Amino acid sequence: MENLHTEVLEQLRTRLLSSKSKLEQQLEMGESATGVVTLDQTSVGRVSRMDAMQQQSMAVSTRVKAASTLRNVQKALLRLDNGKYGFCNKCDENIELNRLMAQPEASFCLKCQDQIDRG
Ligand SMILES: [Zn+2]
Repeated sequence: MENLHTEVLEQLRTRLLSSKSKLEQQLEMGESATGVVTLDQTSVGRVSRMDAMQQQSMAVSTRVKAASTLRNVQKALLRLDNGKYGFCNKCDENIELNRLMAQPEASFCLKCQDQIDRG
């Protein structure tokens, strides 16, 4: 198994750092958005209240997803610092480079991710 080139790693680090700040921003914005919905609930009618609740639950699930992606991004950055980046957390094989390019925060190889997804 060949090692990832330094310039590829730097490129992936840059991308991880930029998604980290985007996700952090998204989570901050999400916090204020869910707050507004809660405040509005007393002053709106039944239908728009249901709308607001639906929007709120959507905002919550987006937040949950963003928070979990952020955790993966942070872990990937740690692995980059430890020199352990690019190895599957399950089978210790190299994660496919085109997979890392598509999803720099991936912590499993395609084969293991597939097994996880199928449960
Ligand atoms: Zn694997």
